[in-house]
Amino acid sequence: MVDWGPDAYHSMIALNVDYAPLRHLLVSHSHQDHWMPEDLAFRRKGFSVIPENSVLTVHGNQAVGDKLKTVLDDLDVVALSYRRAVAFEERDLGDGLVGIPLPANHAPDEEAFNWLVRTPEGSVLFGNDTGWYPAESWDFLAGESLRVVFMDSTSGSIPARDHHMGCVVVVEVRDMMCKMGILAPGARFISNHFSHNGGMLHSDLYDFYAPHGIEVAYDGMEVAL
Ligand SMILES: [Zn+2]
Ligand SMILES: [Zn+2]
Repeated sequence: MVDWGPDAYHSMIALNVDYAPLRHLLVSHSHQDHWMPEDLAFRRKGFSVIPENSVLTVHGNQAVGDKLKTVLDDLDVVALSYRRAVAFEERDLGDGLVGIPLPANHAPDEEAFNWLVRTPEGSVLFGNDTGWYPAESWDFLAGESLRVVFMDSTSGSIPARDHHMGCVVVVEVRDMMCKMGILAPGARFISNHFSHNGGMLHSDLYDFYAPHGIEVAYDGMEVAL
C-alpha cells in the first residue's frame, strides 16, 4: 500500500478493502494527508489478532520514521517495523514487486519521495505530492517503461509547478514522458490528489483532461495491470 492517510480506515469500510494481507507500506512523506499512523495502534493485542511472524514494514524518509515512533512508541507491540527509504534504493517487496523511492519536488524540509513500483505486469508510478520532477528523478525514469502513472493534480486551475501541480503542468509531465518514450504502449495516465484550492470540480477536471487522454481518479477507482 502506498501512503496511509486519515481516510485509510474509512476506505477499508466503505470500499471493502482488506488490509490483513498487507506486508509493506510505502510512504511518500510525513504530511498528514499521506501519513497518519495513529490508526495502526489498533494492530495491538486486544484490538487485532496478528498472526505470528506477520510484520508490516513501513518504508519512508526520516520524518516518516520519526512520526511513527512518536505515535507508537513500541513497534513490536503492533507488529510493525520501519526501514528508512533512501533515494533510488530498491526494496524487494516479495511476490516479484520492487519499490523504488524517487525524489519528489515537494516538502524540501524532509526529502519527499514518489514511489515507483515494478511488478511482473509492468511499472506503476505513484506521483503522490510533487511538482515538476528534479533532474535526477527524470534521469532515473528515462530507463523505465511505465504502465500506469498517478500524478499530483492538486493545484487545478492554478499553473503551479513546484510542490504541487496545476492541470496544465500535469499535461506537460505526460507529454515529457511521451517524448522520453517511458510510457508503455496503452499506458494509463491518471490525475490524482485534488484540492478545493485548485478551484475545479471533478467534472471540470474531467472536461479539461479528457481531450488530453488523461484520466481523473476517484475514490474506489480500480486499475488493472
Ligand atoms: Zn504533502
Ligand atoms: Zn498531499
